[in-house]
Amino acid sequence: MNLHEYQGKELLSSFGVRIQRGIVAQTADEAVTAAKKLTEETGTGWHVIKAQVHAGGRGKGGGVKLAKNLDEVKEIAGQIIGMNLVTPQTSAEGKKVHQVLIAEDVYYPGDNEPEEYYMSVLLNRGTGKNMIMYSTEGGMDIEQVAEETPHLIFTEEIDPALGLMPFQARRVAFNLGLSGVAFKEMTKFVSALYTAYVKSDASLFEINPVLKTSDDKIMAVDSKVTLDSNALFRHKDLAELRDKREENPIEVEAGELGLNYVDLDGNVGCMVNGAGLAMATMDLIKHSGGEPANFLDVGGTADAARVEAAFKIILKDPNVKAILINIFGGIVRCDRVAQGVIDAYKNMGTINVPIIVRLQGTNADIAKDLIDNSGLDVLSATEFQEAADKVQEVLA
Ligand code: GDP
Ligand code: MN
Repeated sequence: MNLHEYQGKELLSSFGVRIQRGIVAQTADEAVTAAKKLTEETGTGWHVIKAQVHAGGRGKGGGVKLAKNLDEVKEIAGQIIGMNLVTPQTSAEGKKVHQVLIAEDVYYPGDNEPEEYYMSVLLNRGTGKNMIMYSTEGGMDIEQVAEETPHLIFTEEIDPALGLMPFQARRVAFNLGLSGVAFKEMTKFVSALYTAYVKSDASLFEINPVLKTSDDKIMAVDSKVTLDSNALFRHKDLAELRDKREENPIEVEAGELGLNYVDLDGNVGCMVNGAGLAMATMDLIKHSGGEPANFLDVGGTADAARVEAAFKIILKDPNVKAILINIFGGIVRCDRVAQGVIDAYKNMGTINVPIIVRLQGTNADIAKDLIDNSGLDVLSATEFQEAADKVQEVLA
C-alpha cells in the first residue's frame, strides 16, 4: 500500500525523523489558513505547494511550486487542486489532484548552500537483508544517476540480527561528505529512518531529496512510502491511511469481493483458481500469441456467485475480447464449477465475448458434458494448450 507524501512524512516524524513541516489542504482557502499557521510557527513566510498524488516527478509536471506570499499560496493552490497532473510516472491523462501539501520553504539562504541527497531503504532480495541506498546526487532521477554515474550510489546492508549499527550510520554521513553538526544530524536521521522502516513494516522508503539546509539541519523534503499490505493487520492506524481514489477502481472493487485481481493491458480475460495456475495461464496465453487482460485468482471456492462476480469484474475492462476460464478441480469438483459458470452466464443474460472453459481434475468429463450440452455460447477444452489455441481461434 502506498502513502501520500504528507502521510509518509507524518509517519517518519512520529519516529523522530526530521521533516519539512507542512499541512495538507483540500481547498485554496484551507491552503491559506495552513500557510498562516506555518508562518506563525516558523516565520519564513515562503511556502511550497505540493500536489498530493501517488506518483513521483511531480516537480517536473508542475505539481510543486513556490509561493512567496499568501496571495500566491491561494492562486497556486487553486491551480493545482483539481488539475490532472501529468508526470513522467503517470499515464498520459495524468492523475487528478484532490489535495495539496502546504510546506514551509526550507531552501532559505544562510551560511552554506542547501544540498540535496538521495536516500532509500528497501529489501535486497538477493541477500535477504534490508539496505540503505544513498547518494550525493539527490533531487534528480536516481535511475539516471544509476545509469550515468553508478559510483555515486552507495549501499549499506543491515544484518537483521544486529540492526543498523552506529558505525554504519556514521559511514553514511561520511560518504555523503558531511562534517560537524551536519554529520551528527545525518547519523540521527539515518537511524531514525531505519527504525521507522522496520517498525512500520514498510517495503520501501524513498526520500528524494534529503536536504541539508543552509544551517546544517538534515530533513526529509519528500517521502515515498510503501507499506507491506500483508502486515497491515498489525497496523490498524496505518491501514486507515489508504486512499482508494489513487488506485485502479476495478482492482478496488475486486478486492472488496475477495478476488485477487490485477488489471493488465491485453485483451484476453482470465478467470483461474490459484495464483500459480493464474500465472501459468497468463504465460500460456502469451506463448500462444495473445496478451492477458488481467490476473484473476478466484480462490478455492469457485461457486456460481464467485464466478458471476468474477465475470462482472473481467467485463468491466473494455479491452477484453475473449475470456479464458481455467479451473483445476481438486477440492472443488469440476461439475460444480461448470454449473456455476452456466448459472452465472444465464443470470447475466448476454455476454458479448466468446468464453473458453477448461476444467480439469475431479469430475472433469461430467463438467465438459454440462458445458457442451448447456446450449450456451461457451467452448470447452480439456487440455491447457487446446484452451489457448481456442482463444487464438476466436480472436482471429
Ligand atoms: P517530486 O518531484 O514528486 O519528487 O517532488 P519533491 O517533493 O521531490 O519536490 C520536487 C522539487 O521541489 C525538489 O527536488 C526541490 O528542488 C523542490 N522543493 C521542494 N521543497 C522546496 C522548498 O521548500 N523550497 C524550494 N525552493 N524548493 C523546494
Ligand atoms: Mn522527490
